[in-house]
Amino acid sequence: MRIKGVHYVLCRMELAAPIPLSCGSLTHRNFGLVRVETEGGITGWGETSINFPPWTYRERAATIEEGLAPLLEGEDASDVLRLRDKMVAATRPFTRMWSEGAIAQAISGVEMALWDARGKELSQPVASLLGGICRKEFDCYATGLRADDPVRGALDAINDGYRAVKIRVGFGDDKDIAVARAVREAIGPDIALLIDANQAFDLPRARKMIGLLGEVDPYWIEEPVLSDDFEAQARLRSEFPDIAFAWGENAFRLSHYRHVAEKGLADYLMPDPCRGGGMGTALDAARIANAEGLPVSAHHYGSDLGFAAMLHIMAACERSDLVLRDVAAAPLRDDIVVEDLVPVGGKVTLPDGPGLGVTPDEKVIAATQFKF
Ligand SMILES: [Mg+2]
Repeated sequence: MRIKGVHYVLCRMELAAPIPLSCGSLTHRNFGLVRVETEGGITGWGETSINFPPWTYRERAATIEEGLAPLLEGEDASDVLRLRDKMVAATRPFTRMWSEGAIAQAISGVEMALWDARGKELSQPVASLLGGICRKEFDCYATGLRADDPVRGALDAINDGYRAVKIRVGFGDDKDIAVARAVREAIGPDIALLIDANQAFDLPRARKMIGLLGEVDPYWIEEPVLSDDFEAQARLRSEFPDIAFAWGENAFRLSHYRHVAEKGLADYLMPDPCRGGGMGTALDAARIANAEGLPVSAHHYGSDLGFAAMLHIMAACERSDLVLRDVAAAPLRDDIVVEDLVPVGGKVTLPDGPGLGVTPDEKVIAATQFKF
């Protein structure tokens, strides 16, 4: 299964209304796909996260096609982890002089495509290749609630069967508190309310906000401070022993997972197979969390191709928790693959079939591919 080519395919759609996050607004949804072609005719597909910063969708083309593809052409695609390690070794110095996250996210998309090809070659789902399937059905929480009316968005999600919803904060303290109170008031005490700060706060502000947000009984508070500010996380951990913290979507080193898990700095760990270095690394991170008794709630914010990959991680990890489901209006997210992965009654099932178990919709991809 010699590799013939590694290609980056950008699909994008303009949003009817921008999606605000504390680190900036999304005016488009960009989905970075990776296609690995082999001489035997098997094609593997992966996804690289390209949400932020806004120019990332251009950078990723160069990183994958000029930086990584030449390392892989002519190699045996079956050697997934060896090739992952080859990409990591070749780019290691650049993680200091340039961007660790960008490189890890590029490697993620390529590594995922290699797993998909390997699964197709062996007629096995990737989760089986990664060690085995612990479960196939998952309870989801809804994120990406309507930014113009989070209360309405939360109620819509509950109407669709979700028993857990996530709101974003970091838009101004008074507004954040008002939204959190209004959503809790509307959904009642029995629905889990997750809160994501997207690294918005410094330590003093995090202290203030966590103190106030505690009153809405959050299921977890996610990334209150910078992902690698472990000193601040340790202080928050000791000052708020009754608050559960979630962490991990912006971690690009397994040593950081080990540190957070061993020190108990977070309660839920969130490896992202499109970001942290690929599916193998995401499962390594999940196993580190599980070894310390911590559940995993894998992260994904992209198309349903990457969502399928995230489900394979959740299927293969022994101790898992809720699964993230983006419910924002972004039809291309769902349409990129033929299979329907939209949760029913708040539950989603691991797709059947070899590899990732999903079929990229070539017509949709051709129609929405953005060339630059
Ligand atoms: Mg988050």
